[in-house]
Amino acid sequence: KTPTAAEIRELFVRFFEERGHRRVPSSSLVPQNDPTLLFTNAGMVQFKDVFTGREKRDYSRATTAQKCVRAGGKHNDLENVGFTARHHTFFEMLGNFSFGDYFKKDAIAWGWEFVTSPKWLGLPKDRLAATVFAGEGTLPWDEEAYGLWKAQGVPEERIHKLGAKDNFWAMGDTGPCGPCSEIHFFQGNDIPCAEEKAGRKCEGVACDCDRWLEIWNLVFMQFERSQDGGLTPLPKPSIDTGAGLERMASVAQGKRSNYDTDLFQTIIGAIAKLAGKRYGEKDDDDSVSMRVIADHARATTFLVGDGVLPSNEGRGYVLRRIMRRAIRHGKRLGLEKPFLADVCRVVIAEMGQAYPEIRENEAFITKVAQQEEESFRRTLDKGLAILEAEMRKVGIPDAVAMGKPATPPPAKAARPVIDGKVAFQLYDTFGFPLDLTRVIAAERGFDVDEQGFDRHMAEQRARSEWKGSGEQAVGDLQKAIAGDIGEVKFLGYEVTKATAEVKA
Ligand code: ATP
Ligand code: MG
Ligand code: MG
Ligand code: MG
Repeated sequence: KTPTAAEIRELFVRFFEERGHRRVPSSSLVPQNDPTLLFTNAGMVQFKDVFTGREKRDYSRATTAQKCVRAGGKHNDLENVGFTARHHTFFEMLGNFSFGDYFKKDAIAWGWEFVTSPKWLGLPKDRLAATVFAGEGTLPWDEEAYGLWKAQGVPEERIHKLGAKDNFWAMGDTGPCGPCSEIHFFQGNDIPCAEEKAGRKCEGVACDCDRWLEIWNLVFMQFERSQDGGLTPLPKPSIDTGAGLERMASVAQGKRSNYDTDLFQTIIGAIAKLAGKRYGEKDDDDSVSMRVIADHARATTFLVGDGVLPSNEGRGYVLRRIMRRAIRHGKRLGLEKPFLADVCRVVIAEMGQAYPEIRENEAFITKVAQQEEESFRRTLDKGLAILEAEMRKVGIPDAVAMGKPATPPPAKAARPVIDGKVAFQLYDTFGFPLDLTRVIAAERGFDVDEQGFDRHMAEQRARSEWKGSGEQAVGDLQKAIAGDIGEVKFLGYEVTKATAEVKA
């Protein structure tokens, strides 16, 4: 029987619980112990201080399903969403952790058992591959991990040696670090590969395409890196692993795209119904838009659920960019009335069981979505018209003029450029984040003069400092919301904390 995503989430955590791991609830998307980190982007974030030894817990093995956002900061997958079958802004990371307890041998054996045993995920062994760290510079290659995969019966030609970019992990410039090993799943050579399209060779597991899908990353924290870059072996090495639930569900359910799993089907179905369109297999504009909206509605729901509000800086600005992208895709799909709050409601119905905090905060989340959409829709049409006029002025690229899609885009040098002043006007007067203008422009084969944009931004900053009115726009939305929703209370933190205390 094909497992649902909810079943996989539970199977994973139970598997490790049975092997002595403490089931720990997901932490907030807003990191509580790291002001330098934009969003929680991996399962290990809530355990950082435990790994470094600064914090002690009464357990040395843990397992979680962790809410993650990768949109901004070091890990930014925002631009991939809608175009790859495997990247989301919001996703869940399943993980098992050892704090100076077990190491590589158990981590690899359990990882392999979970994905291959018919009692658990039961994936076909002949479609799996492993990667190990090949060594780079002074960093030694991970012969130990290689031997351990072999001991599991993975044939040598299916154990790939990759460089530091993919297979070496570090917490920061100094501190714990070590090699990693990944598990990949083969999805088929008929899947399009951008490298191959460009006339180069597809490197299989090492390629960025969706043919070999990375499903699980096992990090072996084994060294401490000092200021001078030297590595000392940690006296008690640790384990940190991360497996994307959406990708696990996609392979376990025999799909080639995360968006075809049960996690997304209902949400995409609801969007299609609102638009009166069908979600197709092929990569037409409508399908891309539906995927983007589904992804961004999940991110919106969970970010607002954890207390982030759309604003003009920091976390709030990342959220605003996500929401405005979704709204603009809705417009592209032909949704003329606000829809984002409705889609968030579907997300809450789908995910509220696993994450009660979004259910508790439903009124708040949908209100924030509604208000942001109403406010952006007031200026969206005018902004799009201005952008359209600018594109006509600087020239329609041939590919587009002939009615062909702008992918692959014309060579860089040949692309006409949107004036930085126009991009700034769109930002300043019509609320278009720069990356939104860039995306719309790119879809049509245009570039944006971003340096020009920055110049106008700096000039305006200088002007408003002079007038002393620089702060104005920032808190507007929060004020509007606070004034409007009356007694709706934000419950996210209390609820999450209460759950955490009960379970811990
Ligand atoms: P990729 O190479 O596909 O971008 P990654 O190497 O950046 O993935 P890790 O940082 O190793 O990913 O994270 C651990 C796991 O989390 C991955 O193996 C994958 O299953 C999942 N994952 C990572 N990024 C995303 C994302 N943007 N959306 C969904 N799942 C993700
Ligand atoms: Mg990545
Ligand atoms: Mg990777
Ligand atoms: Mg990885």
